[in-house]
Amino acid sequence: MIAMTYEGSSIDPAKPSIARVYDYLLGGRDNYAVDREIGDVFKRDLPGSVAIAFANRAALTRAVALIARTTGIRQFIDLGSGLPTADNVHQVAGRHAPGSRVVYVDIDPQVLVHGRALLENDDRTRVVAVDVRDPEAIRTHPDTVELIDFDRPVAVIFSAILHHVNDDEDPAGIVRYWRDQVPSGSHFFLSHFRSGNNPQTVEAEKVLQQTFGRGRWRTDEELAALLDGLEILDPGIVAAPLWQPDETDSVWGTGREHELTVWEHLIAAALARKP
Ligand code: SAM
Repeated sequence: MIAMTYEGSSIDPAKPSIARVYDYLLGGRDNYAVDREIGDVFKRDLPGSVAIAFANRAALTRAVALIARTTGIRQFIDLGSGLPTADNVHQVAGRHAPGSRVVYVDIDPQVLVHGRALLENDDRTRVVAVDVRDPEAIRTHPDTVELIDFDRPVAVIFSAILHHVNDDEDPAGIVRYWRDQVPSGSHFFLSHFRSGNNPQTVEAEKVLQQTFGRGRWRTDEELAALLDGLEILDPGIVAAPLWQPDETDSVWGTGREHELTVWEHLIAAALARKP
């Protein structure tokens, strides 16, 4: 297989990619054998762990719907957005708040190829190829400038992205940058791997770190620190399936809240508002 170059970055089918492994775990088709090999470690050796990806995606969908329905926010910046999947942010936001504008940001060249193909005729949505660790480059990118009005509240989404940013790359500084760019009333969604302290989750963290050579799982206290200066809304920082469950979610009304698996506890979600 040949590596394909796109805007200076190359799609390398011989090297696993975070976006493609995640796509495989979610049942997508935009992945290669090398990605499926890593995904199968989770499926085969860590039974039940795939629930992390679904719980994360479901919490993100609920958060976008809630923001669109209840806050008047009509502009979203989705950082580390991933490959297009079943219900993307622009589709959820558009369903609840037609006319919403979305800037997707991802470093994976395949996300750009697929995202741009999907959004070819959509003038309210853009895919920007910039590293989340360079927020200024995202903020000043022509597509961001065109679509996002920074005088009006924005929803900034950090869904399953900051655990791919190491401590020495200053994840808190990245959140702080966006906090300082947006006006009061803006919302921040965070989902993030939680330090588990049990053998299965320690193994899962090791697999991810060895595969991608980076990443840091964090405690709830560390997640709260990432949201410094923001008001964390109810129900706080909780396991993703417990974050505002609704009738589309498996735990809703079942009383299963106390029976979540270690995997479902492993991904935390929170929504915060800039005062
Ligand atoms: N946000 C989506 C979700 O929650 O369903 C996708 C999450 S996926 C686990 C993480 C995504 O972040 C991948 O698409 C990956 O390419 C992207 N990513 C990782 N590091 C990045 C970086 N430094 N800058 C931009 N995107 C990054």
